[in-house]
Parts: sequence; C-alpha cells; structure tokens
Amino acid sequence: MSEVEPAVDEGKEAPKPLPPRKKCRVKAYCWNHFTKYLDDNNLTRAKCNYCDAHFAAEPKRNGTASLNSHMYDCPYSPLYIAL
Ligand SMILES: [Zn+2]
Repeated sequence: MSEVEPAVDEGKEAPKPLPPRKKCRVKAYCWNHFTKYLDDNNLTRAKCNYCDAHFAAEPKRNGTASLNSHMYDCPYSPLYIAL
C-alpha cells in the first residue's frame, strides 16, 4: 500500500462563481482554462492555459469535450484531479 496522500489545501479561497450573464446558451466553462484561436484553416482551436497542449475545438466538429476532459487531466490545471 502506498502512503501517498494528496496535499489538501484548506486555506485556499474557494473559486467564486462567475456573475450571471444574459445569454441563452451557457458559454462553455472550459474557456476559462483555454485560449481560443483560429488555425490556418480557420478552424477553432484551443490552447491549454496551463500546459502546451492544443486541441481542435471546432464547435460543429469537435465541440469542447476534449477540453472538458483536459481541464481535469492537465497536471498543471487547478482543476486537476489526482486519482
Ligand atoms: Zn494542460
């Protein structure tokens, strides 16, 4: 059995909810953690704000599913879930 325990930092500020916005569609939360840009083919892509990972994020083709999972998979992300 391993003795590794995740460091729990109770003193940290809880993330504050974003102010509500009048939009019929909720903007994907993942965009707080990724920078959107267009590639040479004019396709939407996203770069992780924490590491050097890039993702295709074309709304009609890729959506943001890979971004959503990377948010939690990226070891540099504050949302990283160590399993
Ligand atoms: Zn990352």
